[in-house]
Amino acid sequence: MRITHWIGGKAWTGIAQRTGDVYDPATGQVGGQVDFASASDVDEAVTAAREAFSRWRNASLAQRANVMFAFRELLNARKSDLAEIITAEHGKVLSDAAGEIQRALEAVEFACGIPQLLKGGFSENASTKVDVYSIQQPLGVVGVISPFNFPAMVPLWFVPNAIACGNTVVLKPSEKDPSAANFLAELFAEAGLPDGVFNVVHGDKEAVDRILEHPQVKAVSFVGSTPIARYVYETGTRSGKRVQALGGAKNHMVVLPDADLDLAADAAVSAGFGSAGERCMAISVVVAVDPVGDELVGKISERIAGVHVGDGRRPGCEMGPLVTGAHRDRVRSYLDAGRSAGAKLVLDGRGQSIDGDDAGFWLGPTLFDHVDVDMSLYTDEIFGPVLSVVRVPSYDAAVEMVNANPYGNGTAIFTNDGGAARRYQNEIEVGMVGVNVAIPVPVSYYSFGGWKDSLFGDSHAYGPHGVHFFTRAKVVTSRWLDPSHGGVNLGFPQNS
Ligand code: NAD
Repeated sequence: MRITHWIGGKAWTGIAQRTGDVYDPATGQVGGQVDFASASDVDEAVTAAREAFSRWRNASLAQRANVMFAFRELLNARKSDLAEIITAEHGKVLSDAAGEIQRALEAVEFACGIPQLLKGGFSENASTKVDVYSIQQPLGVVGVISPFNFPAMVPLWFVPNAIACGNTVVLKPSEKDPSAANFLAELFAEAGLPDGVFNVVHGDKEAVDRILEHPQVKAVSFVGSTPIARYVYETGTRSGKRVQALGGAKNHMVVLPDADLDLAADAAVSAGFGSAGERCMAISVVVAVDPVGDELVGKISERIAGVHVGDGRRPGCEMGPLVTGAHRDRVRSYLDAGRSAGAKLVLDGRGQSIDGDDAGFWLGPTLFDHVDVDMSLYTDEIFGPVLSVVRVPSYDAAVEMVNANPYGNGTAIFTNDGGAARRYQNEIEVGMVGVNVAIPVPVSYYSFGGWKDSLFGDSHAYGPHGVHFFTRAKVVTSRWLDPSHGGVNLGFPQNS
């Protein structure tokens, strides 16, 4: 199967100079070839988007909202088709793909309210017979660059708000699982979105670099690993663009001695191994505050033993493969590194029995205890099914450790003490905090974003920050003359 760009409302018909293999991670087989855009292919998409912008920016709010409502209905009706596409290229189990689409739908629903969201302020008689009002205008062509781990949800964190605000979009999805983006493009077309408002270019660094330097691209929303996020932010802002670049994570779950340990163990396993740990909000470090360590590790181990690993299309499978063979090998390398560094390997995912094809990119859930903060198990974002337990003597030591970590995406505290939880949410230097909730992804009417090396830029994703990011403010001061306008006055305007 060939997967190609979507430009100006239709599949691209050119010949790609480079292509990439797209794998089915559960079988290890190549399922398709994706075209990689050259710089001039990106230019073609930006030109289509730029031409569409001149009309779309003046589309009525009612029309934009209607397109979003229609898209929402189509996405909801076709969500099982999309889930199958995601599972076939990403590997996450079908129920998890469905969960991703559900969160994406919520982001679309937020954008359906665009007439309300773009209401400005109006001050009658700010000065005598002078009215002042604010308006939010679109930026123009915006670029969206997304990672492999949420091939539908992450694009839809940005695209609906960008389009509803009157912009036109060039999306560059991950080359590892590109088909979901084309599915979304087809649905947008069916929903009545004019040609050129939403375009997709596939590829790698070459396409990204052209988006970052193209003078007609006014803003870039990026999600991916921290080194690339930093690069995208620095390169894009240097060429004068507005950029938000969400990066990697190392999310800690602090378990206090008074916590419900069964709840905590359930949450640690769900949040650590869901989607094979390939979530930016996955828990990768459990911080066990003395004396809960032994009992908590015991409860987590018992639960891991019951996790059913296999092909996400087979009934009952709860955890799928890793996205590529290379990524699986990289994640596996942390098992030997962790052992050599002195951590205790409690459960080794290499021995896991698999309900799937042997050639798939498998690694079962792995648990390490007595991990130290100087081990690569702790310092690196592993992005796989490897959970580390770090033991600390006190609440203060836990907070100090989390705050010293360079990442600040998500964190959770498990406790029955409301005062301790409240203190944690106040003191912790992390953008999204859960209290007895392990994966605190904000609902769509709040905004999503981390602190420190987990986000470069000022705006978080979706919700109110999304509308702010995709618009420019303008303030109009207006006087309609009447016979009392007062004549010439060379002084600086005063309000009277
Ligand atoms: P990645 O950084 O490898 O790729 C992200 C995007 O950047 C892709 O579209 C890719 O083609 C492009 N890219 C890759 N290398 C590039 C380069 N050298 N120059 C320019 N562009 C390049 O990330 P990934 O492996 O696809 O996704 C996993 C990462 O994304 C993890 O680090 C995860 O934490 C992060 N992530 C973060 C969030 C968040 O909200 N903070 C959400 C999802 C994923």
